[in-house]
This record gives sequence, structure tokens and C-alpha cells, in this order.
Amino acid sequence: MKTYNLAVIRGDGIGPEIVEETIRVLDAAGARFGFRFDYHPCLMGGCAIDVAGVPLPPETVEICKAADSVLLGAVGGEKWDTLPGHLRPEAGLLGIRAALGLYANLRPARIFAPLKGASPIKSEIIGEGLDIMVVRELTGGIYFGERGRKEVNGAAAAYDTECYSVPEVERIARVGFEMARKRGGKLCSVDKANVLESSRLWRETVTRLAADYPDVTLSYMYVDNCAMQLVRNPRQFDVIVTSNIFGDILSDEASMISGSIGMLASASLARGSFGLYEPIHGSAPDIAGQGIANPLATILSAAMLLQYSLNEPAAAAAIETAVNEVLKTMRTADIFEPGYRKVGTTDMGRAVADAIS
Ligand code: NAD
Repeated sequence: MKTYNLAVIRGDGIGPEIVEETIRVLDAAGARFGFRFDYHPCLMGGCAIDVAGVPLPPETVEICKAADSVLLGAVGGEKWDTLPGHLRPEAGLLGIRAALGLYANLRPARIFAPLKGASPIKSEIIGEGLDIMVVRELTGGIYFGERGRKEVNGAAAAYDTECYSVPEVERIARVGFEMARKRGGKLCSVDKANVLESSRLWRETVTRLAADYPDVTLSYMYVDNCAMQLVRNPRQFDVIVTSNIFGDILSDEASMISGSIGMLASASLARGSFGLYEPIHGSAPDIAGQGIANPLATILSAAMLLQYSLNEPAAAAAIETAVNEVLKTMRTADIFEPGYRKVGTTDMGRAVADAIS
């Protein structure tokens, strides 16, 4: 039987609980579609600090690099908050992105029909539903550019630099075009080309690549307008491709359209088909160990893993359909509404797995 190797980082707080249910769902998908997984556990974050003294032990990087892809729960917690920056759990996250060359961050913002009521956007704007994919450049731009402090006219000043090379823009733009091709065929490139030189180069590069994708309709939008349009008329968007800093802000805005942090999946892709898949929420220490965390964001991240890294689109679709189905009758506490059965982490995971089999 076809076997996939998955590195599994359970992490801290609710991480182990939600990953456990995700593995249950992945196994159910494998059983139905004829493949299986070998899981390779490894440590990152607070639990790695406790055992190995660092948030990202070299062994973890090796295990991840040797795997087909990586599934991650979440890291962090108060216990490690007083450590110096480079030893904190979050340093593990930045470290693994760099070590694995994860340059494209995919953040779907969608509303499952049964959860329409949870969105802060009016139902007439949502219509039949929303499904936007934000493709964010993850390893370049102002977060990695030259920075420093200096003196200007006798006053203390600080600067950060936005710099993108053509190859950097090309590789992320291609992810955007390919994604649009697999979805609704529309790509919106978001920049600030009316002001920033780096954005003008970004736009020129995206425009040039468009010739390779005649089946994709390309449009452009300034970032300030995009922030407004996401709330005013989000249904106009299919795939958005943008820089690191603009994507950071817009993907958070777009994902909140869905109304619940416990439902939001993400993928970070490297060259080839390798990726790291994780929920966008953190380790939720306030509810850890209580068995009430919503595992669906991690389960939906696993569906993305099947789709984008393992090329198992039928299994990915089966997970998404199963999630939609269970939401019609049951809810974890974070998305609970009267009239539904309130369930914990394990029951939610079991229900999704059962709906797949
Ligand atoms: P958080 O996302 O962990 O929690 C915010 C709120 O959302 C909390 O009330 C929490 O209970 C709730 N929540 C989050 N996920 C949930 C789920 N699956 N089901 C139900 N409720 C859920 O953010 P925070 O409280 O700001 O951070 C907690 C820790 O997580 C910090 O140490 C932070 O650094 C870390 N963090 C890690 C990641 C990551 O691993 N990628 C991301 C963000 C924050």
C-alpha cells in the first residue's frame, strides 16, 4: 500500500490534543482511499526546550527534511515566556520556516455553510458562501530586510527595508497563478505600486508572468483598497497574492470573515511539493488539557496537506465534506450555538473520521 512519511510536531498546550484527532482523521482518509501514513514524532517549542534546552533541536529539522511533509499543532505557553527571544518557543517557528525553505504561505478564508451565522459579515454580503485563498510571500520583504537605528536631525530614528528580487516575486507569483488555475481562475495581485518602488517591480514581474497563464484572469489592487474590499465585497476574490507584510495583515483580516479561530487552516510550502501544515491559532494554554479545543483547524490543515503535498485531492475533499457534515449537528465550545450538540475534542475528531469511513 502507498505509504506517506509525515513528521509530526505536536507542540505545547492544546497541540497534542488536536494533532491526535487529526491523525485519527488522516488514518480514516487513508483507509478509505487506499494509502497509509508512517508518523515521525519530533519536538519543537516549549516541550523541546524542556527536553533539549532549545526550541528547535537539530534532530527535528532532520526528521522534517526526511519526511514527505510536516504536520504541526501549536507551540508556546507562559512557562517559557520569560526566556530570551532566541530561546522562546516562537523562535522554533521562525527557525523551522527558514530551515525548510518555506516561502509561500497559503491561508484559505472560507465559510462552511452551517457556520454562516458565526461570520461578522452580513449574510447578504456572504451570499452562498465565501472561499478566498491568500498566498503570502513568507521569507522576504521588510521582515527580512536591512534594519537599524540612527539619528535624524538629532533625534533617535529607526528604519526597516522592503526589498524584493525578481526571482523572489516570480516564485510566489507562480504559486498564486497555479493556485488560481486549480480554483476559480482569478488572481488578484496586491501591492502599493502607486507609492513603493518594490511594489512597482512586483507588479511588472507578475504582469510578465501572466503570459504563461492565459487561462487565469489577473487583476491588481492597492493594499489599502484590498483591505476595504475584503469587508465590502469579499466574494469578488478568488486567489490573492501579495508580499510578506501585506499578506500578514490581509490574511488575518480575510480569515476573520469566517468568524472562528478554531476553524482556520494554513499551509507553508517549499519548492516542490513539500509543506508544513498547521492551524493558524496558537497553543491556547487557557483551555489546554480540558478536552474542549476545536480540532477542525488542524484537521482542515491536514486536508490541505493531502491536496497540495500528497496529491490526494479526493481524500482532501472527503475531509472537507465530512467537516461540513458534522457541523450540521455538533459543535465544540468555541463555535457552539443553541440547538447543536456540544462536544469535546475527541468526539469531534471521531465524528469527522466516522463521516469519512
Ligand atoms: P491562541 O490562538 O492560542 O488563543 C487565542 C484564544 O483563542 C484563546 O482564548 C484560546 O482559548 C482560543 N482558541 C485558540 N485555538 C482554539 C481552538 N482550537 N479551539 C478553541 N479555542 C481556541 O493565541 P494566544 O492566547 O495569543 O497565544 C497562546 C500561545 O500560543 C502563546 O504562547 C503564543 O505565542 C502561541 N502562539 C503560537 C502559534 C503557533 O504555534 N503557530 C500561533 C499563535 C500563538
